[in-house]
Amino acid sequence: MTITDTGRRRPRIVVVGTGFAGFHCLRTLQRRLPDAELVAVNPADYMLYVPLLPEVAGGTLEPRRVAVPLRTELRGTRTVLGHVTGIDLTRKCVTAVDVEGRRRDIEWDRLVIASGSVTRLLSIPGVAEHAKGFKTIAESIYLRDHVLRQIDLAELASNLRERTERTTFVVVGAGYTGTELAAQGKELTRQAKRDARWVLLDMADRVLPNLSPRLSGPAKRVLEKRGVEVRLGQSVSEVTDTCVRLTDGTEIPTRTVVWCVGVRPDPLVEPLELPTTQGRLNTDEFLTVPSHPDVFAAGDVAAVPDLTRPGEITPMTAQHAQRQGRVAGINVAASLGAGERKRYKHKDLGFVVDLAGTQAVADPLHVPLRGWPAKVVTRGYHLAAMPANRLRVAFDWIADLLTRRQVVHFGLVPAEGVSLADADRARGQDNEHEKTGGQARWSSSATR
Ligand SMILES: Cc1cc2nc3c(=O)[nH]c(=O)nc-3n(C[C@H](O)[C@H](O)[C@H](O)COP(=O)(O)OP(=O)(O)OC[C@H]3O[C@@H](n4cnc5c(N)ncnc54)[C@H](O)[C@@H]3O)c2cc1C
Repeated sequence: MTITDTGRRRPRIVVVGTGFAGFHCLRTLQRRLPDAELVAVNPADYMLYVPLLPEVAGGTLEPRRVAVPLRTELRGTRTVLGHVTGIDLTRKCVTAVDVEGRRRDIEWDRLVIASGSVTRLLSIPGVAEHAKGFKTIAESIYLRDHVLRQIDLAELASNLRERTERTTFVVVGAGYTGTELAAQGKELTRQAKRDARWVLLDMADRVLPNLSPRLSGPAKRVLEKRGVEVRLGQSVSEVTDTCVRLTDGTEIPTRTVVWCVGVRPDPLVEPLELPTTQGRLNTDEFLTVPSHPDVFAAGDVAAVPDLTRPGEITPMTAQHAQRQGRVAGINVAASLGAGERKRYKHKDLGFVVDLAGTQAVADPLHVPLRGWPAKVVTRGYHLAAMPANRLRVAFDWIADLLTRRQVVHFGLVPAEGVSLADADRARGQDNEHEKTGGQARWSSSATR
């Protein structure tokens, strides 16, 4: 099928998820296949720039800054607000449940699966019930408000134990997410002029265990200088509503445990029974799912061969997801006759870790930096990588340098709204209460 043949129907490309991979895939497709029908299924009308979530939790950035609007940035794409709950490879159709619970089947000529990952829960007692996740805007707004509320309520505590619980915040997982969050959280409570204990825990023997060891030492020193307690080589054995117990028997009184131990691929792909690696859907170097030439996958959900490290797959990072999205777009277009296929090959350019205030660590092109130089590189990198909102983000950063932070809590996100209990299950299935007569079908003929 070629899209320039006017007598023929427009090919429909369905993209599941508009995160880093899905968004950049759609952007590429808009340019390369202006006549194709592009449909995105995503629960929100924005692409979330996840790496800046710790700054939202810390109060440096307003939540809307990290939400890239699909409406203006993907004008040529129709967005179905909802979740894909099933993929039928034989009928070439996905089932989506929209945000009001209505179900619709959407047929496709090409499918791109870019649904990312979910928080990884370990079977540790109390984690699902009492810990909080940190992967969404709701979770970061909740956390910021919750921290401020706890330190206010601590003033009214009837005994020392309650006061200690309310002013102690435990972050589990010292990867980039947990490390940045602990740094931002400590800065938030400092700006609120309250004494709070922040503890960062990890089983590993260094912070940032998945990044270059040259970043770990400086990052730990910054955290400790700020007063963050870094406990390494320790894990959690239980979480209750008033404490966390560690594997060495220590009990830390706290009402706030944030679970940053990592993610696992979106379980949406599990029922497909296609070959996976570590739960990620296998693709070839063209991001095509083997034996399904019409199906592509990219980002955290995909196991993409890393051509720069033969035998390995690419790590789950925004850097890879964004570039894989672009290559998936190029290859989808090529499969429909526009342009040439391209292999996915990208060598890591290094990593940036913002440690709040004037501190950061980074290794651009694997040159280790710390302090101001790292901060400039970190902020410059984010501004360059963000598809939109750059000016607003830059203004927030400048305002944060020049003025006092607005430490107020609105309490708009209820605790139930950020429950971890079903965080690692396929999304959208619980609210799939099909409405009678509400089922819609997007067949090819309906849109011709
Ligand atoms: C707090 C935090 C900080 C991070 N910081 C960094 C960093 O500094 N640098 C870095 O490289 N990486 C970072 N990462 C990792 C990075 O964000 C991910 O690797 C990247 O977002 C993966 O992109 P993706 O497109 O695969 O998935 P995502 O960006 O997660 O997008 C997936 C999209 O699919 C949607 N979706 C999911 N299921 C469905 C469904 N069933 N139907 C429809 N839509 C669905 C989701 O709502 C989402 O919009 C961070 C991650 C977190 C959580």
